[in-house]
Amino acid sequence: MSLVNENFSKLKAGYLFPEISKRVSAYKAANPDADVIRLGIGDVTRPLTPSIIKALHQGVDEMAKDETFKGYGPEQGYQFLREAIVKNDFHSRNVDINIDEVFVSDGSKCDTGNIQEIFSLKAKIAVTDPVYPVYVDTNVMAGRTGKADKNGRYKNLVYLPSVAENGFSPSLPEEHVDIIYICSPNNPTGTVLNKSELEKWVKYALNNKAIILFDAAYEAFITDSSLPHSIYEIKGAKECAIEFRSFSKTAGFTGLRCAYTVVPEKLMGIGKDGNKVSLNKLWNRRHCTKFNGVSYPVQKATEAVYSEEGKKEIRGLVDFYMENAGIIRNTLEKLGWKVFGGVNAPYIWFQTPGKISSWNFFDKLLNEVQIVGTPGSGFGYCGETYFRLSSFGDRKNILKAVDRFNSKYGK
Ligand code: PLP
Repeated sequence: MSLVNENFSKLKAGYLFPEISKRVSAYKAANPDADVIRLGIGDVTRPLTPSIIKALHQGVDEMAKDETFKGYGPEQGYQFLREAIVKNDFHSRNVDINIDEVFVSDGSKCDTGNIQEIFSLKAKIAVTDPVYPVYVDTNVMAGRTGKADKNGRYKNLVYLPSVAENGFSPSLPEEHVDIIYICSPNNPTGTVLNKSELEKWVKYALNNKAIILFDAAYEAFITDSSLPHSIYEIKGAKECAIEFRSFSKTAGFTGLRCAYTVVPEKLMGIGKDGNKVSLNKLWNRRHCTKFNGVSYPVQKATEAVYSEEGKKEIRGLVDFYMENAGIIRNTLEKLGWKVFGGVNAPYIWFQTPGKISSWNFFDKLLNEVQIVGTPGSGFGYCGETYFRLSSFGDRKNILKAVDRFNSKYGK
């Protein structure tokens, strides 16, 4: 029999969403007529927009003709898409990124999960707590951590608390770290780091020869014009940061799949011999070895996100979800609950009333108002006594949910 990767045994079994499903199924079995509203998941609910669908169809039609058929494309993505990306997402914000720094992929989950492969197993990793679990689990699988303690925290990882008390802006680590994962706008807290907070991290990274892995999957949801959309809006970031972007939430691509990663050419790591190594070259090598490109029709559809019509449609999608977020946020605030996020991100994060445990609060909401959310503790030790609601949902359901909140918990 083959020996398996023992690091997998350290993983806390995919506990959060299966446990939610288990509890909801048990409730439904006991209450078959209950109308349960799910505000737990981070998946979009509205269909792809007309320009995207049109471009997708055109891409498919091209694949059906001798003259326009495409086989393997460039692993890094077609030039037309990389050009549209740099022009619209970076040059428009006075950020100088070139197409050789952009790697198109089929998702930020894979990219944020795979990126750790280009770093040493000895690299010291810092994550915020709470955190998008992919950053942690992929480092556990790779063997950079020890076992989890009773709070679910892995040995050898550095956890940076991100809580109401510090305004969800984690302090710099007390010990040296090599890699820092930052997600802004944040999943799950829905909060965003401002320019001076990002400057603090860039300065730390430059001074400590650390690399920031900046996940901007929710960048399109920023409504406050003073907030940076890209880490590269901060001076010096091209020497210390990799950025991840996704079309999943921005353009409703969770089922279509397209994303990209920016690895600046100036960004260097250090080899065993002390010499500088280009991270752009390493990622290119990794990407070309393990990935064969996003399908042509999907890249055509993604290009349409940047057309004039596409931009308007996408804005409409984002605005719709953000209106949902506003409705949920205002309702919870009026109940007197301590609410965060939901202004520049599609997630609403709040302290459970009376600071009860997040799983107890989950059960309370399910039983009393038949609403399903996500317990904060599922995202880390510091998420305990917090709860996440998502604004991805039908308006009808959101309105029904807020009615239930008001009638059950209103004064
Ligand atoms: N990064 C964060 C913070 C996310 O919340 C998600 C999805 O929920 C992703 C990345 C994954 O995005 P994708 O659909 O592009 O894989």
